Amino acid sequence: MEQTLKGKTALVTAAANGIGRASAEAMAARGANVIATDIDGPAVTAMADASPNITGHQLDVLDAAAVESLVASVAPVHILLNCAGWVHDGTILDCDEEVWDRSFNLNAKAMYRITKAVLPGMRDSGTGSIINIASIVSSEKGAPRRFAYGASKAAIIGMTKSIAADFVKDGIRCNAICPGTVQSPSLNDRLAATGDFDKALAAFKDRQPMGRLGQPEEIAEMVCYLAGDLSAFTTGQAFAVDGGWSI
Ligand code: NAD
Repeated sequence: MEQTLKGKTALVTAAANGIGRASAEAMAARGANVIATDIDGPAVTAMADASPNITGHQLDVLDAAAVESLVASVAPVHILLNCAGWVHDGTILDCDEEVWDRSFNLNAKAMYRITKAVLPGMRDSGTGSIINIASIVSSEKGAPRRFAYGASKAAIIGMTKSIAADFVKDGIRCNAICPGTVQSPSLNDRLAATGDFDKALAAFKDRQPMGRLGQPEEIAEMVCYLAGDLSAFTTGQAFAVDGGWSI
């Protein structure tokens, strides 16, 4: 059975690149009306120019007032894909309070904020699917030099289960996806920042039992499944799409 998202409105954060972009485009291809948001406004405007099912809006998820006003202007939303996130490279000893706060503000608090804004409309319409992009590096698995990242991504899984439990009787589902290492612009930046791109890339591939990185489109397939009615019996779960890293 093919998943259709016709008649549904999907709000996506961090839609200009990587997993957010692939997911926005995949949901649009399945007929959803996609509201693609990103701190990079021109990039999402360009996506909208390329697809009749996408509208683009500049949105910094750290800006509480902007989140409120965008959600009010696009409601009702049936699918919320929370994708914005940031990786800090370091152990607890490298993590000062500023890094801790930025990690939690962008990776967890921004999700809380936008979900809180969207959820009442979902409850009123009796339907909704919230999909949070966590990471396999979270409560699922530890990885070297991912202290603040892993802690904040674990918070997303807790938040996901809590929202799922609170709103299961309102027709609202909430699930998390835990990607392994996925090809994206910010991954390339992290590889370059090591000073030896090729060596770092080889090490990242090595830690994935499949011996390769994931592609954003492979995460987008799980997003589409969780967004649509084929997954209607599924809530409160954290799904690993990680090339076997967590086996
Ligand atoms: P990416 O990091 O390359 O792109 C992120 C996008 O977020 C960019 O378009 C950027 O403009 C936007 N952005 C940054 N700050 C923002 C803000 N304050 N408000 C709105 N938008 C903002 O994409 P990616 O690597 O696919 O990562 C997407 C999500 O997937 C993140 O939450 C990340 O932690 C998670 N993830 C990625 C990987 C991976 O290996 N790439 C693995 C596990 C989880």
